Amino acid sequence: MKESLIDWEPKTKTSRALTERAKAVLPDGVSSPVRGAGVFDPYPFYVARGEGAYLEDVDGNRYLDTVMAFGPVILGHGHPAVTHAVQEQAAKGMIYGTCLPLEIEVAEAFVRMVPTAELVRFVPSGTEATMHAIRVARGYTGKPGIVKFEGHYHGNHDQVLVSVSPSLEEAGTEADPASVAVGAGIPGEHYAHTRVAVWNDLDAAERVIRQNRDELAAVITEPVMANKGFIPPEQGYLKALQQICRDNDVLFVLDEVITGFRLAPGGAQEAFGLEPDLSTFAKAIANGAPIGAFTGRREIMSVLESGRVRHAGTYNASPLCLAAAKATMGELARDDGAVYRHLEALGSSLIAGLREVIDASGIPAVVQGQGSMLQVYFTDLPRISTYREALRSDQALFSRFAHEMIRRGVFVHPDVFEHWFLSAAHTAADIDAIVKTAAEALDAISSG
Ligand code: PLP
Repeated sequence: MKESLIDWEPKTKTSRALTERAKAVLPDGVSSPVRGAGVFDPYPFYVARGEGAYLEDVDGNRYLDTVMAFGPVILGHGHPAVTHAVQEQAAKGMIYGTCLPLEIEVAEAFVRMVPTAELVRFVPSGTEATMHAIRVARGYTGKPGIVKFEGHYHGNHDQVLVSVSPSLEEAGTEADPASVAVGAGIPGEHYAHTRVAVWNDLDAAERVIRQNRDELAAVITEPVMANKGFIPPEQGYLKALQQICRDNDVLFVLDEVITGFRLAPGGAQEAFGLEPDLSTFAKAIANGAPIGAFTGRREIMSVLESGRVRHAGTYNASPLCLAAAKATMGELARDDGAVYRHLEALGSSLIAGLREVIDASGIPAVVQGQGSMLQVYFTDLPRISTYREALRSDQALFSRFAHEMIRRGVFVHPDVFEHWFLSAAHTAADIDAIVKTAAEALDAISSG
């Protein structure tokens, strides 16, 4: 790494200076921990602009982007249709605090796109989407408990900030995983109703659900463990989990904040043929504008009517974000899903290309992904199927690999628990460039 730093530091002087300036006014110099000097060595690059599949930093360096803001930017940076829609709306006012036709239009589009959406409510983030879905589940069932899975992330509210990335020492056994709060400031009572189970293990899920069915409102799950890289569900796992929920009168809540509009126009529920009672969305809804949604069966969502279950917010269904969502959904629906065919082709070709250069390098690693999402794990295992296996992969080597990529102009996030996202703006030539750069980065790693 030090070798490539020799080239890197002179090219990124403004980013270095901004990192120092930021630390004076922002804790750790950042607004979210995955962006800062704790992850990027020795400092992150500061972005001046994005264009399509590329980012340009404040020193004028260009990067082919495989982070895409952790998922939202499905069409590419600065997509003209979305930019135009946002500009047009901004000129008419950013927010009104009353109803507007656009929220009906976007809700109607949502209901058309998402198989189980009957009623929709908009929120400003994925965190608020999962928080409200859980409240609705509790209000509807009259029960307080939830099950969440070890390694899954559902945003920043206390009841789900539990066992997101526990160390092996604190995680307990797989049969009886410990509930570990993320950091200080979360009192035990705030997650006293949260049961933790390991994922991709039906017996474990059935045990915890059956034992606690009388107090459980819902099981919340990511369809793919996408906050630990890319860990797919075992064949039939999600459908069986859904059935266990049904059999025990517990709602099945699918957190589609990452997979929504990405794995398929109707999200993972379409891709895997699921029928969640409630599901949550954000990220790819609006190509980066801050909007989320929770949705589900009419009977369940109607507990929101007359304020029986509380959901409110100044920024809910903000006109600016709705305009971005409408334009994004329009592009995603164009030409009978041409964007998805493009993303599938790019994703498969990137996975195949990475596997080839990894094999040639002799460094033990696996590549896992689906559609436009994927991750590389440095491991001797034939595949990663649990959180604990991901934790045991060589995270330091992955970080080194990502930094070698960044220094060669491809932005790969250095945390293996994040993953790679592609966008409609990427081209086959971009994929070739990423694979070629990966071969060089692996070479740099092999030569010490
Ligand atoms: N749920 C999942 C599956 C996520 O990946 C995230 C964020 O990465 C969230 C919820 C929280 O979304 P937000 O960051 O918009 O609050």
